[in-house]
Amino acid sequence: MPSEFDVIARYFTRPARTAVLGVGDDCALVRVPADLALAVTTDLLVEGTHFLPGSDPAKLGHKALAVNLSDLAAMGADPRWTTLSLVLPEADQAWLESFASGLFELAGRFGVELIGGDTTRGPRAVSITALGTLPPGLALRRDGARESEDIWLSGTTGDAALGLAHLQSRVKLSDAALRHCLARLETPLPLVELGRRLRGLASSAIDVSDGLVADLGHILERSGIGAEVWLDRLPRSRAIAECADPALACESLLSGGDDYELLFTAPQARRAAIQALASEIGLPLARIGRTVAGAAEVSVLDEAGQPVPLGRGGYDHFRP
Ligand code: ADP
Ligand code: MG
Repeated sequence: MPSEFDVIARYFTRPARTAVLGVGDDCALVRVPADLALAVTTDLLVEGTHFLPGSDPAKLGHKALAVNLSDLAAMGADPRWTTLSLVLPEADQAWLESFASGLFELAGRFGVELIGGDTTRGPRAVSITALGTLPPGLALRRDGARESEDIWLSGTTGDAALGLAHLQSRVKLSDAALRHCLARLETPLPLVELGRRLRGLASSAIDVSDGLVADLGHILERSGIGAEVWLDRLPRSRAIAECADPALACESLLSGGDDYELLFTAPQARRAAIQALASEIGLPLARIGRTVAGAAEVSVLDEAGQPVPLGRGGYDHFRP
């Protein structure tokens, strides 16, 4: 049975490249260029709440880091460093090997360096903190949206929620749809390049982790405006379009969590620049609505311009 120190040394210690000092001391040391701000974000994933018991450890390592890099992307930050806090029931070597491989594979893709953490015994949970840098005046804050701006969405929403619904036997997806939806659910790719390219273009941004309507609501609350979203303009994946349960598909589209797309607002004058960016980086960006004066509420409108009644707005851990 390896000790806590064996686990850290064997699975989580890599030579520091960009950090001044990495794993192994009381603190890590990093140097932040004088003209940049440090963006810091943390996410906690608990077994049974955020991931199913028995989840593939490599996918868990990937996702735990991916959700943090998605927060950096939604701020427009360049990811640089990360710390990892692990609570494990036992030092299962095969589990650790696989978890570390998933985490380091994604970290390597974005040049992110693991510089510290904490390791302790208990019910399985993973917490990651990610640190990135950006020019402070260009951060994509939630409070920057103004009246009569466009609302944009990358990719498609609802796929991860549909994958989860299949795992929970609430729907039966075709093999191709299931493959697509499970990849979205288990190994999301953070939209780091999109986030950094939106600096100076978007007026506000958020990543879609709790559901499109709920996350748009966070922008509206912080910015003090309302919004209209056009249901027929929402991009739909094949899995959503061909789903045997259209009510579930619609609910997933509007309120499904875990998509990690970027939702952002921008002045109308930036339309052409945003469309050009979409083709340059090869990511679909759809104009799905507009901000309006008034209370911080989302009206979803159908083709005839009539409001669509909304059920649960998104996932909230403390809601009964
Ligand atoms: P301390 O008791 O001073 O907090 P620890 O014994 O907890 O130090 O950790 C020793 C070193 O290993 C520290 O540099 C810490 O950041 C790092 N570390 C601990 N757990 C992890 C982990 N899961 N991943 C990466 N680094 C870790
Ligand atoms: Mg410690």
